[in-house]
Amino acid sequence: TRVVTIDGIAALIQDVPDFPKPGVTFKDITPVLARPDAFQAVVDAMVASAPEGIDVVCGMEARGFIFGAPVALALGASFVPVRKSGKLPRDTVESTYDLEYGTQTLAVHTDAIRAGDRVLIVDDVLATGGTVAATADLVHRLGGSLVAVTVLMELAFLAPRERLEWRDVDLITSLI
Ligand code: AMP
Repeated sequence: TRVVTIDGIAALIQDVPDFPKPGVTFKDITPVLARPDAFQAVVDAMVASAPEGIDVVCGMEARGFIFGAPVALALGASFVPVRKSGKLPRDTVESTYDLEYGTQTLAVHTDAIRAGDRVLIVDDVLATGGTVAATADLVHRLGGSLVAVTVLMELAFLAPRERLEWRDVDLITSLI
């Protein structure tokens, strides 16, 4: 029987003040990973939130890998790592954007997503929405159809959904 609730998972996430820089409260999800029942519950909830017929799950370096890979396996979908620039060995498309702290360039192999693929983006924390927006750009440039975004936690005060509005994502699910 499942004893872990969403409230229980939320209580495991630790607020770390002033990390990685003053004024930012970092949401540390590693205590969730340390509890297999909690980790499993998060993956199960993400899988349950996914629309039918997902072909590709995109997870962004690095914590998007942790949740995206088991979600892809459970859905019987491809897992596609979206990586920081310079890490992928073959032809890539890239997208640069501003982060809550700093800037970032993300890359994906050009053959990782095919025209018409139905894509789910998975990450741990949706903050400003910049990371998801950049990943959405990569998906669209390769001809994929971004059908949903699923995250463990959304920082609503940063209004990430406003940034994603024009990206035409039908479904954004945040467990917390
Ligand atoms: P953003 O692009 O602003 O939505 O930031 C999302 C990405 O940065 C995610 O991959 C998160 O893992 C990470 N991130 C941003 N802000 C935080 C935060 N306050 N706590 C933990 N992770 C964060």
